Amino acid sequence: DTIGQNLDRAIAAYPEREALVDVAAGTRWTYAEFGGAVDQLARGLLGTGVAKGDRVGIWAVNCADWVLVQYATARIGAIMVNINPAYRAHELAYVLQQAGVSVLFASQSHKTSDYRALVDQVRPDCPGLRAVHYIDDGSWDVLLDAAQQVTAGQLAERAAQLSCDDPVNIQYTSGTTGFPKGATLSHHNILNNGYFVGEMVGYTEQDRICLPVPFYHCFGMVMGNLAATSHGACIVVPAPSFDPAATLRAVQEERCTSVYGVPTMFIAELGLADFSSYDLSSLRTGIMAGSPCPVEVMKRVVTEMHMAEVSICYGMTETSPVSTQTRRDDDLERRTGTVGRVMPHVEIKVVDPVTGVTLPRGEAGELCTRGYSVMLGYWNEPKKTADVIDAGRWMHTGDLGVIREDGYVQIVGRIKDMIIRGGENVYPREIEEFLYSHPKISDVQVVGLPDDRYGEEILACLIPRDQDDPPTLDELTSYCRDRLAHYKIPRRLQIMDSFPMTVSGKVRKIELRERYQG
Ligand code: ATP
Ligand code: MG
Repeated sequence: DTIGQNLDRAIAAYPEREALVDVAAGTRWTYAEFGGAVDQLARGLLGTGVAKGDRVGIWAVNCADWVLVQYATARIGAIMVNINPAYRAHELAYVLQQAGVSVLFASQSHKTSDYRALVDQVRPDCPGLRAVHYIDDGSWDVLLDAAQQVTAGQLAERAAQLSCDDPVNIQYTSGTTGFPKGATLSHHNILNNGYFVGEMVGYTEQDRICLPVPFYHCFGMVMGNLAATSHGACIVVPAPSFDPAATLRAVQEERCTSVYGVPTMFIAELGLADFSSYDLSSLRTGIMAGSPCPVEVMKRVVTEMHMAEVSICYGMTETSPVSTQTRRDDDLERRTGTVGRVMPHVEIKVVDPVTGVTLPRGEAGELCTRGYSVMLGYWNEPKKTADVIDAGRWMHTGDLGVIREDGYVQIVGRIKDMIIRGGENVYPREIEEFLYSHPKISDVQVVGLPDDRYGEEILACLIPRDQDDPPTLDELTSYCRDRLAHYKIPRRLQIMDSFPMTVSGKVRKIELRERYQG
């Protein structure tokens, strides 16, 4: 199916069920209403001359209209370009030019971002950008007018020209390790992945999924939106950007059965002073993904948030995104600390990152994946594409992992984050996992800093549970002694109140390294 065909199935099967609730805006659409709104916007885009394959950008915080643009562009075969709402002018200009965006949808403003002013600033440098439509603003009227000139027959004619292998999105990676890359993905790539993610957690039309994760990222738009609509479930948008209290309030008031987050989002929710006052009894599942999921955090989510079936996923934008996932009937003990097993119709292997030789189960090396989920390529970057997808169509992830004997996969860390101290390979992830058990530590990141003597030295950046009573380096050292090999014990300590983050909620270790080296 194309995404449009798949949405039509849901509309036909569940016309009266809720498809989308935007809590902040007060929008509530059934599948029939959502389908109607998608068709109207799709006709508006057709009527204003958007051709198959044209790039339509979206630069907006989470809202119902974001989801409309996602499905309307897919319906007419346009390629939607997801633009990170945290971008500043030069990054916006880069993406608009690089992807050749001709029509842009944008928020007007949010918190400290004045999107209108930034668009005005870059417009002279982007001659290909012929139209900008702001959300909740009269600039949509031109689309609504144009929609009236386009018939259902013309829309159907366009749909008939589309194939599921056509590109539907350019999704930019998080930019955790450097400048983001634009992964070109087809309907087939992301619709299948969203569908299977939903299968693994057992979604049906009874589910209501609270999505505090950004839509601009695959976590929101594929694992959230496409997983929901391909199972007739309801998308609940708690707030325009992540807000822990608004998330829990939405779960309570909308009786959500599932909630998503990167680990730091769950940590923030569990840390709310009034956490226990929320009624979260409607939750049964959720997805935690995007960066290493500490076992301690997972245990608290299971017991304190009633999410016994919480699912852990591993993947990357370039693979649509999910490659491995825990299933709802997995044994909790067995799956804890893992990212589950390989997804249906996807292959995974571990190779020696230097020689490329495939390693046996149980040995750590670079994870590679292959299958329907591997992107078409980085947009207009054949060289960069060839660097990561080899001749056998294997995607080299840049992540280190182990496939256990029983098929469960464990992530060791990113190749780029590995610390080499005095010739020993040290995986920050292992130290972080251990330090989460310290009673004074709320959150922790471990990075390597250049060191004359050992090549690299280990820095632990800590957010203490109580800012007035942080652990000292001595306390930390004695806590680690006899429990961690001596070369893994952090020699430097930095107390912080927050970490530098990407909008998708990942800690930018690269920034921690830059900030504290020397
Ligand atoms: P960039 O490629 O721009 O530096 P990024 O790799 O963070 O940024 P994404 O595609 O959003 O961009 O994230 C994919 C990466 O996130 C994976 O390669 C992996 O390192 C990490 N990741 C995702 N899920 C997990 C998980 N469950 N456990 C550990 N790491 C994860
Ligand atoms: Mg990446």
